[in-house]
Amino acid sequence: MADCIFCGILDGSIPSRKIYEDEETLAFLDVFPAASGHTLVIPKKHSADIHSIDARSYGTVASTAKKVADILTAKLDCDGVSIFQMNREAGGQTVFHLHIHVVPRFKGDDLQKPWKVQATTQESLETTHRRILS
Ligand code: 5GP
Ligand code: ZN
Repeated sequence: MADCIFCGILDGSIPSRKIYEDEETLAFLDVFPAASGHTLVIPKKHSADIHSIDARSYGTVASTAKKVADILTAKLDCDGVSIFQMNREAGGQTVFHLHIHVVPRFKGDDLQKPWKVQATTQESLETTHRRILS
């Protein structure tokens, strides 16, 4: 897709540091890493986000993210891994070719969950639950 950075990485016009590749997916280092080893996993066929990719293909990308998590843990000796996948501008997405972030984590690192942990009410849970199931 024209003007897509990640399609540029796929066609070789933009350089990248590859971690893993198979027929349908590519994994490469993020150039603005949240931690060293921060890797992006993308489908080779352009899809903008989770809504525009079919479930099987999304599963294939997720399966590669699992392989990458295992590779990074073995090679970088990290204590954990966090997975992020942003969709649309409101979801924090900045590159509109679907990707899964695999971020190595180390005890005591200063990365935070991207939300504030706070309790809600039973009423609010009930309303939302009903809305989702309706
Ligand atoms: P998003 O913000 O859409 O969830 O993630 C996009 C990611 O792409 C960011 O973490 C950003 O650092 C990374 N990124 C942007 N441009 C490039 C690039 O040219 N090469 C690589 N390897 N990563 C990029
Ligand atoms: Zn693309």
